[in-house]
Amino acid sequence: MQNSIIKVENLVKNYGQFEAVKSVSFDVEEGEIFGLLGPNGAGKSTTLEIIETLRPKTSGKVWVNGFDLDEKSGEIKKIIGVQLQTSGFYPGLNLLELIKLFSGLYNRNVDAMELLKKVNLVDKAKNKSKELSGGQKQRFSIATTLINNPKIIFLDEPTTGLDPQARRNLWDLIREIRAAGTTVILTTHYMDEAEQLCDRIAIWMKEK
Ligand code: ADP
Repeated sequence: MQNSIIKVENLVKNYGQFEAVKSVSFDVEEGEIFGLLGPNGAGKSTTLEIIETLRPKTSGKVWVNGFDLDEKSGEIKKIIGVQLQTSGFYPGLNLLELIKLFSGLYNRNVDAMELLKKVNLVDKAKNKSKELSGGQKQRFSIATTLINNPKIIFLDEPTTGLDPQARRNLWDLIREIRAAGTTVILTTHYMDEAEQLCDRIAIWMKEK
């Protein structure tokens, strides 16, 4: 058996009377691409945000790299990379400037051009984020998850809205990131994406 880098046990999230996450359990192994697959509204993003330490849970247990979410959320934050919504990028800054800004926030020294090379955006280095195509924006947003050299990255519906070619490019990029040793956990509502890209998946069924 491999090492579980994420362990989720009986995770529950209620918003008032509404059960958004209903006692979910799964393990993610180190070095895999793990998919949370299910229809819209199933609770995938909520689950991801809880593991990312961004949203409080109602009950259940979560461990990331052995750190208990209830006690060591600060340690968890240090080893994860979270994808920001592309709409959150300052529209007036170019890609190099944005990477420098985020590196400063993480207190890291990053070779911005090297990072853009990884996501095949060197020729857009001096462009503003608003000038990128949908696929380029997603690739850039994945680049920002890598700034702090994380052990795990979290991608929330990374290919939604992309054309087939851009989706395949993004799949290749995600596979390269995994090949470099980073564990990837992502949400998707595409069956084919889960099948082609993910090593293992957790499936949310629709309630009758
Ligand atoms: P998914 O990512 O699978 O599409 P979400 O995790 O975004 O699903 O949402 C799960 C359910 O929780 C949805 O029904 C959504 O409307 C509800 N929900 C999400 N955030 C909140 C919130 N802040 N307050 C109340 N309900 C919410």
